[in-house]
Amino acid sequence: MAFDLAGMSQLKPEYVNEIRSLVHDFFKPDNRNRNQQIEKLIQTVSAQVKQNSLDDDFLASVAVFFDAAFEFIISQEEQNHSELYKFFRIINHLPILPNSRFYDEGLEILRPYFEKDTDSIKFFDRLQLLFVYSEISYEDAAQRMVEELLEQVDSSPLCFYVMYQLSRVGILGAHGETRSKMKLLLELTIRVWNIGSREATLFLLTSWLFTLSWFKSSKYYKALLYNLYEKIRGTESLNMARVGYELFLLDDKQVSPAERMRYYQDLIKISETILNSRQMHSLHFFAGNYLSGFNEQFHDSILSFKASNYYLHKCWERLIEISKYLRTHSDPKDYKLSMNYVEDKLLNLSNQTSLRNNSYVENLQMNFEKIEDLYREVGELSLTDPLSGLRNRRFMDNNLLPILALAARHNVPVCFSIIDIDYFKSVNDKYGHIAGDYILKTLGEMLSQTFRHSDIIVRYGGDEFLIVLFDTNPQYCEEMMNSFRKKVENRVFNYQRKQIKITVSIGAYCNSFQDNVKLKNLSGYIDKADVAMYEAKESGRNAVSVQT
Ligand code: GH3
Ligand code: MG
Repeated sequence: MAFDLAGMSQLKPEYVNEIRSLVHDFFKPDNRNRNQQIEKLIQTVSAQVKQNSLDDDFLASVAVFFDAAFEFIISQEEQNHSELYKFFRIINHLPILPNSRFYDEGLEILRPYFEKDTDSIKFFDRLQLLFVYSEISYEDAAQRMVEELLEQVDSSPLCFYVMYQLSRVGILGAHGETRSKMKLLLELTIRVWNIGSREATLFLLTSWLFTLSWFKSSKYYKALLYNLYEKIRGTESLNMARVGYELFLLDDKQVSPAERMRYYQDLIKISETILNSRQMHSLHFFAGNYLSGFNEQFHDSILSFKASNYYLHKCWERLIEISKYLRTHSDPKDYKLSMNYVEDKLLNLSNQTSLRNNSYVENLQMNFEKIEDLYREVGELSLTDPLSGLRNRRFMDNNLLPILALAARHNVPVCFSIIDIDYFKSVNDKYGHIAGDYILKTLGEMLSQTFRHSDIIVRYGGDEFLIVLFDTNPQYCEEMMNSFRKKVENRVFNYQRKQIKITVSIGAYCNSFQDNVKLKNLSGYIDKADVAMYEAKESGRNAVSVQT
């Protein structure tokens, strides 16, 4: 849904309409009164300036102006997908240096201009230096270059002229007077518009908009960008990338994390040669952080962090390249001074790096703890029998031997006892497998309630349980087992209104561990308990047999 910019303001409707119709007239072809029109447009928009130049009405007028211009431009057909628009791709990647990612592609775009006029190589080089000075905000040097190039620029190709003016506006932005800047840009806009490329015009107007730092904090800025973005979203064009990225960068008050994520998703679909390393880094870093908040997106979060790290590294390399570039292209005095700005950028980057590193580490730690919890959980699960909740055979294989070795070392007597349900097959056959499961589960609970916490209870086989009792002599073991046998015999298992009764046969083998034996394996002891259990079965079942 689009924002109603005029509706967000106090502007009178007739005044809004006036701006809109002036914008339409302005873009009309063959307009002879262009200069007058530009004056009129400037006057009308800035008529709202009262005491305070950042009065809300003025901000709203600027917003209405841009909104009308965007709307009008987009409603027109692209007539000439010009060289100029192609050239604009370079601007995101300046300076174009032999080691940069964009070098080959950049050279390809510049070739037609260089072939036509070899002097333009040198001119472009100077222009590029102006752009870099303006980028690093070294205004004195940029201003000097603006003057140096002033004469030549009028006869240069339009793309160089635009690049010159954009750098100039960049430094004007800090001090410049709004009216003269507006005049300059409106003249430039109409020159570009006359080529017939709406994309190039849109590029210029948005570049202008992005330099308006005083406008960015107003409520109209996001609304304006959002309206434009919704119209060009999905074009995967340079303009879409720039507008989308500008929205992505807005502060948290204006853009929620989920909305930011939507811009991220749109933008990473776009060719890498449109966005630069710095932009790619910010996009991926945000996504890494955002996704790390969701368990199920852990994997994607790692991928994003990895990508952001890669681009951060590219940013470092680039800054080093720029510093080398300035060393070879600036005169020594300017080089020395420009290093202040490069240092600022370096400091900024290193702050970001440490901030980012902290964030990686926090995320890693968080995820590590998550993994540890999962690991514990999986570990527990792998040692537990899901039906009865008792320890399983894997637990016994992994853990029992060291415990017994300890018992043997301290001469603690141990009894191994196997409990097997009598005729359990027939219980299953008569009442069904689910009833059988219920009995196994209930029997598990009875075992846990009957024996000590220090005893080990394992579901050993289908209807077989192994109990390892410590510090117990054969007599006591026999009493315990008989009492349990009777408990089972007397128990009525109620399952779905059926009353089921079972019995168990129990075989035990008790070892006093008096001779300080060295334990090698368990099976010997358990086999002996098994033999005793079969004796109990043979004696008629529902019986206990203890061996020593
Ligand atoms: P015996 O008195 O000789 O032990 O007779 P039995 O029928 O109990 O024979 P045996 O111990 O050899 O058979 C065990 C039976 O336990 C076989 C199988 O049907 C049943 N059983 C094994 N695991 C499960 C289970 O997880 N759920 C259910 N419902 N039944 C199981
Ligand atoms: Mg059985």
